[in-house]
Amino acid sequence: MTLLLPTSTAGSLPKPLWLAQPQTLWSPWKLQGDELVSGKQDALSLALQQQQQAGIDIVSDGEQTRQHFVTSFIEHLNGVDFVNRKTVRIRNRYDASVPTVVGPVSRQQPVFVADAKFLRQQTTQPIKWALPGPMTMIDTLHDDYYKSREKLAWEFAKILNEEAKELEAAGVDIIQFDEPAFNVFFDDVNDWGIACLERAIEGLNCETAVHICYGYGIQANTDWKKTLGSEWRQYEQIFPKLQQSNIDIISLECHNSRVPLELLALIRGKKVMVGAIDVATDTIETAEQVADTLRKALQYVDADKLYPCTNCGMAPLARPIAQGKLQALTAGAAIVRQELQRR
Ligand SMILES: [Zn+2]
Repeated sequence: MTLLLPTSTAGSLPKPLWLAQPQTLWSPWKLQGDELVSGKQDALSLALQQQQQAGIDIVSDGEQTRQHFVTSFIEHLNGVDFVNRKTVRIRNRYDASVPTVVGPVSRQQPVFVADAKFLRQQTTQPIKWALPGPMTMIDTLHDDYYKSREKLAWEFAKILNEEAKELEAAGVDIIQFDEPAFNVFFDDVNDWGIACLERAIEGLNCETAVHICYGYGIQANTDWKKTLGSEWRQYEQIFPKLQQSNIDIISLECHNSRVPLELLALIRGKKVMVGAIDVATDTIETAEQVADTLRKALQYVDADKLYPCTNCGMAPLARPIAQGKLQALTAGAAIVRQELQRR
């Protein structure tokens, strides 16, 4: 991108009231059949419009066609039983009822490719598409078949690669893998997690990103953050290996978090999506607060590699609040862009 400090979001945006209950994760659809298909497309168009109104540079679908960022992908795969659910501990943090892997996993048909084509038709702006990362996928499942987290992750990496290649062909400019699990299972990340991610992006020519955050603003995550102490140094465990990886962009939580921003020096050379919007509070940031976070990040990230972004997805927020936060993001980025251009 030639534009300095291009803005984007980590992914999800609130859904309209008529499609699914707002401010709720895993909220069931309110429509069915053809009405649901058409309702999802309308919601996607609306999410695009909201981003455009706020002046976001790299736009997305706002994840309007997905009930959840991980399970909606898994739902479309063979080998996973969604009826026979098990309760597992997600990221060692909270219990959730999840599907079970009962046989070899494979992708029967494209999952999000039609949605991506639909978005591509509606804008000439760069588009970013999010997929769940292999490690976060295995953490959101019960495995009764492979009996090995690593083996299952490699299988998912192959499937994700098939999907990613088709998304690229559909005109997606940046494919992002969401890996909040990278912030928890450090040994696995370094042993095979990053390698699996590289398998997932094999042969792609578009840009690739990995999003690593401290989660949505739900109670379980807020409680977990309270146990992390005064400095959050989780990124330090995985940055050296990520810096060496083929991933182009790293998307991080920076605003209102206790991540020491000097850790960003460990990924020098990578493009960084700097989270400058807190998704765990209803308080809308001022443009100056956003600018302040970006200025701090600029000490460790080269200006041409800094992408102002949100800390995480905004699905659980009320729509007017999410919209206010998008506007704050672009206004804050504009302040810093001007400062850089004056230099
Ligand atoms: Zn996130």
